[in-house]
Amino acid sequence: MDMSRRYFMKLLGAGVSAYWVTGCAWAGELQANSDDWTPAYENLEKEGKFAERIDQAYALLEKCEICPRRCGVNRRKGERGFCRAPEQAVVHSHSPHFGEETPLVGRGGSGTIFFSNCNLRCVFCQNWPIAHEGRGRQVSDSEVADMMLRLQRRGCHNINVVTPTHVMPNILAAIRIAHKKGLRLPVCYNTGGYENPDIIKLLDGIVDIYLPDLKFMDGEEADRYIVRGAKDYPEKAQASIKEMFRQVGNVQTDGRGRALRGLMIRHLVMPNRVAGTKEFVTWVATTLSKQTYVNIMSQYRVEHQAFNYEKIARAITPAEFVEAIEWAKEAGLENLDERSLSQYRVHRRRA
Ligand code: SF4
Repeated sequence: MDMSRRYFMKLLGAGVSAYWVTGCAWAGELQANSDDWTPAYENLEKEGKFAERIDQAYALLEKCEICPRRCGVNRRKGERGFCRAPEQAVVHSHSPHFGEETPLVGRGGSGTIFFSNCNLRCVFCQNWPIAHEGRGRQVSDSEVADMMLRLQRRGCHNINVVTPTHVMPNILAAIRIAHKKGLRLPVCYNTGGYENPDIIKLLDGIVDIYLPDLKFMDGEEADRYIVRGAKDYPEKAQASIKEMFRQVGNVQTDGRGRALRGLMIRHLVMPNRVAGTKEFVTWVATTLSKQTYVNIMSQYRVEHQAFNYEKIARAITPAEFVEAIEWAKEAGLENLDERSLSQYRVHRRRA
């Protein structure tokens, strides 16, 4: 079970009647009453370490090495690197979102904040006006905090920061401001996966839910389909996901099946086996855990510049999706997203 004894004892101490460890679904799943649950950042604040962590994060902007691009620009002086991000965050929109994974959505939705720009930029990006063109409005950390509080008031179950990597310091500062005004939702770090694992260590004790993509398992493919290349994408993403898993382990839910903490991985099946799905499921099962929550997605579309690349200039076939799920089952993955499985049934009839 990927939950520390200290964390478990803390939950028990908070009211034993509100918690129970299930014997179903998968070994080690925790179900807890979210009313009595404490977000990780609250504990860090009580320990007096949150402010220091934000200072460390902001210092990184002076010679930006937040992500593996390591541009070295001074964003505090207005210089911009590959991601084109300024010092302040740029936000496209924020709202309750009902299209995310079921444990994130519940009844009230996932409280998404879409950050503009991106440190990865795939040629097939479905969010290209936001990620590639940076459409949005520059906002202060206090304004981001207000968005978080607004989403909490609207009944969302988590704060889902989308494309957070290049604005990580701003997000940490916003969480602390919002926490002082009453934020107590888990923060979900929804990243494309091109992360520096040492930077992910800074998030330990702040982020409760990690939602990374693992897009490619082969460096040559990553290099081909990411703007200006990223041959080290598989290596960096895998090392970062291992660090995320070390911090939060498998998904833990409340009594209504809503995620409170844990790792959930997304993987988009691509045409012609470009994403390396077989290698992906094998890696998860052997390196992390067979109980890892995995969403194998079927919605690849020919978007943005993808029509210029022969191997990815078409949708996936039903047979390609069916083989992806069957590989996952053969690898022994036990916690596949329910939409992955329902799409599997649909595609199997068509294959
Ligand atoms: S976050 Fe942006 S500026 Fe910083 S290293 Fe990454 S791409 Fe470069």
